[in-house]
Amino acid sequence: MEDKFLIGSHVSMKAPDFYLGSVLESLENNATTLMFYTGAPQNTKRTPIENCKIEEAIKLLKENNFDLDKLVCHAPYLINLANRTSKEKEEFSIELLTSEINRCAAFGCKLLVLHPGMRLSYPVEEALDYIVDGLNRTIENCDNDVIICIETMAGKGSEVGTTFEEISYIVKHVKNQSRIGVCLDTCHINDAGYDLSNSDALLDEFDRVIGLNYLKVIHLNDSKSIRGSRKDRHANLGKGTIGFNTLYQFAHNKRLIDIPKILETPWIGEFSPYKQEIEMLRTGKWFDIEK
Ligand code: FE
Ligand code: FE
Ligand code: ZN
Repeated sequence: MEDKFLIGSHVSMKAPDFYLGSVLESLENNATTLMFYTGAPQNTKRTPIENCKIEEAIKLLKENNFDLDKLVCHAPYLINLANRTSKEKEEFSIELLTSEINRCAAFGCKLLVLHPGMRLSYPVEEALDYIVDGLNRTIENCDNDVIICIETMAGKGSEVGTTFEEISYIVKHVKNQSRIGVCLDTCHINDAGYDLSNSDALLDEFDRVIGLNYLKVIHLNDSKSIRGSRKDRHANLGKGTIGFNTLYQFAHNKRLIDIPKILETPWIGEFSPYKQEIEMLRTGKWFDIEK
């Protein structure tokens, strides 16, 4: 039963092995799912698909019984569908998201996490309408079955998507409902003011406002900041204000059994915490990470 637990982490994708390297890193951590970026999230430089060792990676994923429909890709941070300050900015985000969706599909990946955007100086309602419009136009461009998963945000700067209501407005206004979903980030919702200590009450609220059927990805992170701080600083499990037991209960809530849970906790210097954090989440026993 517990081997069905869908747990993984953000993994790197770099030369020379690219996606194959990402899969090997996940296997080394005893993960059952993973999240990757198809290139650096801060820029638009991308290795050509042919060089990414995708076929070898998918073969290895299948040999290790990974559910390919639960793998996660994260879109670059440069995309802001709410930025309508010029025609160039508007087209830039739509074109970059379109190419990332197509890249994601080429990796055989179905779930693409996207930050909803920054409202800049627009009223939030106006920004939400720009995001919906950008999503609709992007989805029309892409003939594949990638689901864009809008991530819940902490609320730093002018981030939108910091309440379930804002996320709900976006997903409900997307025309092609088969192509839209939600990624819930535990650090972000804590920092936005939500209480994670009762996982069923939180999921009831999510279901009432958005609908649990939209929930496709969980980002499982502790937070360095107190609830409602709007900071967005991830902490290792049990080293933040949410705490290990709360995150463990949340990850093992029966309503989330089919949802991939992805760690984006910080590295400790040059050392990856993921193998040990995955072990903690399997066993329910917290321990200090050993380097
Ligand atoms: Fe994110
Ligand atoms: Fe996240
Ligand atoms: Zn974050």
